[in-house]
Amino acid sequence: METITNHLPTAELQALDAAHHLHPFSHQGELAEKGARIITRATGVTLTDSEGCEILDAMAGLWCVNVGYGRDEIADVAARQIRELPYYNTFFQTSHVPVIALSAKLAELAPGDLNHVFYAGSGSEANDTNMRMVRVYWAQKGKPDKKIIISRNNAYHGSTMAGASLGGMTPMHEQGGLPIPDVHHIPQPNWYAEGGDTTPEEFGLQRAQELEKAILALGEDKVAAFIAEPVQGAGGVIIPPSTYWPEIQRICDKYEILLIADEVICGFGRTGNWFGSETMGIKPHIMSIAKGLSSGYAPIGGSIVCDEVAEVIAGCEFNHGYTYSGHPVAAAIALENLRILEEENIVDRVRNDTGPYLQKKWKALADHPLVADACIVGMMGAIALSPNKAERAPFDGDSGAVGLICREHCFANNLIMRHVGDRMIISPPLVITKDEIDTLIERATRALDLTLEQIK
Ligand code: PLP
Repeated sequence: METITNHLPTAELQALDAAHHLHPFSHQGELAEKGARIITRATGVTLTDSEGCEILDAMAGLWCVNVGYGRDEIADVAARQIRELPYYNTFFQTSHVPVIALSAKLAELAPGDLNHVFYAGSGSEANDTNMRMVRVYWAQKGKPDKKIIISRNNAYHGSTMAGASLGGMTPMHEQGGLPIPDVHHIPQPNWYAEGGDTTPEEFGLQRAQELEKAILALGEDKVAAFIAEPVQGAGGVIIPPSTYWPEIQRICDKYEILLIADEVICGFGRTGNWFGSETMGIKPHIMSIAKGLSSGYAPIGGSIVCDEVAEVIAGCEFNHGYTYSGHPVAAAIALENLRILEEENIVDRVRNDTGPYLQKKWKALADHPLVADACIVGMMGAIALSPNKAERAPFDGDSGAVGLICREHCFANNLIMRHVGDRMIISPPLVITKDEIDTLIERATRALDLTLEQIK
């Protein structure tokens, strides 16, 4: 098939891109100077750019391409669905087969009585839905003042007004006067950066108890829900100490606060179970999903809701929804993606085979002189770079400057790893093979060596 990329040289594509395309989370001026790297194709875990370079994508795009790139089965399903029914909405008492089948499948896969799905186009939209849904839930129960959602510093819940407000990213709050009212943030369970002299277990407990303090300070009758990622992703892959989640669950139960698990990254196998909530042993009332739901082959997200919340919401007309809620093509793609995850035992491989293989190799990076900590759960991992391993000390100067150097060495060495401050993070496609894991680790080690040499 002829496409624009078959015709234009890289420099021209870069110039057009800089002239007309405003990139998300980018400094547009810097990007225009440097020129974007243009990705043209991908299969498995490998991207190809417009210069023909092959790059190992250790981030699965944006933590989403769980079944890997280039799946013909998904392309076929999408083409079939577009021919049969490319669009119809699910408003006003209509439905269609793909959305019905996907909802039943998600109810089967989700733990406990999480049996009902409200669809969105993305993770951010799913969290917007959650914010509105929990308020309607409490209003229906005669408690309209229960509106506050408690979240955490350095959480990521999306980029819409509600998503960015629920998130705890200061640079996002600084642009545009966020958070919106009725969102409250408590400290995160990041022992590496904030644990000081406590043990991880003591620290996990302390940070969970911040939730109880916040509920008591704000008033039990004002707090609607607590939202959190089972493992913080965009915050730098922060795996909470083992004491954290059981205490959070105890507090939510005690005060009857709804627990929203944002599974946008952790869902669909990333942590070695279908959902991160299972890995962390929690029982949320609502789970936000997106990304791995379709492995990024189509934009689709949603909220999986427990029986009780669904029943209460069903008592009124919920005046909320998106044109693309339950889009038939996206739903068909998601269903096919779930079939692949199941039939190829991909979640089980993350738990028992390639996952442990990656974990062993990743943790061994802690022996590198630049690495103070290497942590990983399932197939999401981080290494913390530090000039002083014993003290977990940060670098002098700008936080993130060394991480950026390392990311650039990765990029030049055909490996995509992301940096969050001075943490390097990975979240590869869940289908990565052992040979590809070896390549990932070799390239990461080389990037660390080059970084060390550069900052000496
Ligand atoms: N929630 C979490 C935990 C995420 O990591 C993200 C995106 O990275 C979102 C929500 C927002 O999802 P989207 O970018 O699809 O709006």
